Amino acid sequence: MPVYDYRCQACGQPFQERHGFDDPIPPCPACGSGDVQRLIVQAPTVAKGMLALAGDSRRASKEQLQDKWAEETPKLRKQLVDKLGEDVVNRNAPTLNSKFD
Ligand SMILES: [Zn+2]
Repeated sequence: MPVYDYRCQACGQPFQERHGFDDPIPPCPACGSGDVQRLIVQAPTVAKGMLALAGDSRRASKEQLQDKWAEETPKLRKQLVDKLGEDVVNRNAPTLNSKFD
């Protein structure tokens, strides 16, 4: 199962929890508050797609990688928005809103 990064909104404590994507958000281990925010620091789908492209050909051009990024990023962003909501994505993953250049 993946490890997720959180930050407690009540006391500011950052912490990590290992659990499934659909499991409920765990309370803060420091103060017990349930008011915690998941931090999205990675874009694994995009990275994996780009690595696969680069690894397959070894000749992947910058243009191809940019195309891949442009293709994958909106899809990933939509998944996150569907799951977490527009506000959370904008706060935690602002790079998903920008073009790769
Ligand atoms: Zn706390």
